[in-house]
Amino acid sequence: MVLGGGGFIGHHLVNKLKEEGYWVRAADIKKPAYEDSKADDFCLGDLSEQSFCLNVIDRDFDEVYQLAADMGGAGYIFTGENDASVMYNSASINLNVLEFCRIKNNNNIFYSSSACVYNEFNQLDPNNPNCEESSAYPANPDSEYGWEKLFSERIYLAYNRNYNMTNKVARYHNIFGPLGAWNNGKEKSPAALCRKVAQAPNGGSIEIWGDGEQTRSFLYVDECLEGTTKLLRSNLSGPYNIGSEEMISINDFVDLISDIAGKTIKKIHIDGPLGVRGRNSNNKLIKDELGWAPSQSLKIGIEKTYKWIEEKVMKGEIDIK
Ligand code: NAD
Repeated sequence: MVLGGGGFIGHHLVNKLKEEGYWVRAADIKKPAYEDSKADDFCLGDLSEQSFCLNVIDRDFDEVYQLAADMGGAGYIFTGENDASVMYNSASINLNVLEFCRIKNNNNIFYSSSACVYNEFNQLDPNNPNCEESSAYPANPDSEYGWEKLFSERIYLAYNRNYNMTNKVARYHNIFGPLGAWNNGKEKSPAALCRKVAQAPNGGSIEIWGDGEQTRSFLYVDECLEGTTKLLRSNLSGPYNIGSEEMISINDFVDLISDIAGKTIKKIHIDGPLGVRGRNSNNKLIKDELGWAPSQSLKIGIEKTYKWIEEKVMKGEIDIK
């Protein structure tokens, strides 16, 4: 079962589980945007509604992945305009999913939390952010999206304690790849920057939010799914970071994408929603306890992503919602 199977990561996860030979049910309020789902059964509806959620979780599944959330990039979660709906929608989904899974004896759910749970004060220095799992407390996420994730992490783990469940919690750090939002207001920086570079002529310029010295790390979707399935199939609960430790400033990231595109691109820094000053995954705990860490360089994943977005730009597909 892949809840959120119409979304970017969920769609890739459905593909992976199909390749592994599973019968897959996916549920989402929308179908995948860029290709058909390979799910054997795709349930279209709102998981924040109890009746729909109960219909979807109608049995004991081998594996349940809960990825459905009201989310987007900085332009969606840091402007403040979507705070109430983000919190209401995602919390309702998680409450419904957990309770109906418990009733139907699905006691091993994977829950995708986020690096956005981390305390803003530990991420002020772009060169030295602290995202060790334990540093999430005392809590001070910089967005309501992060607060909802923290609440939901806690309830998945509370169900473990009180109902003998073995739910797993991972904190994803900036997952990217082809088949993700790239031009609908919900795109994240890797897709947005690839699009801007693809649209710019050689020697042209692109706009970047902030001074570009803010740092992040980015994980390619295939590696994210490797960590995800490995964690669900383990006897560990987490929370664990699933991310890359290859930290890069946004300015250097633009240069990397420009190199891949074979273009010289000038950067124009403008005001925009930014998020924390620095963020990098810390993989010590997941390496030590699960024996997993990503191995691929950022460049390899970005080459594939750039190619996919460049093709869309070339075809003039500029208005996908
Ligand atoms: P996404 O937005 O592409 O996927 C989320 C899916 O949830 C969407 O398809 C959306 O339609 C669905 N959804 C939202 N509300 C729903 C509702 N009421 N009923 C049914 N479906 C609903 O995002 P993604 O990048 O694939 O992220 C998957 C999960 O991973 C999310 O929980 C997200 O918070 C988490 N996460 C992602 C990243 C990242 O970098 N992509 C980072 C941290 C955490």
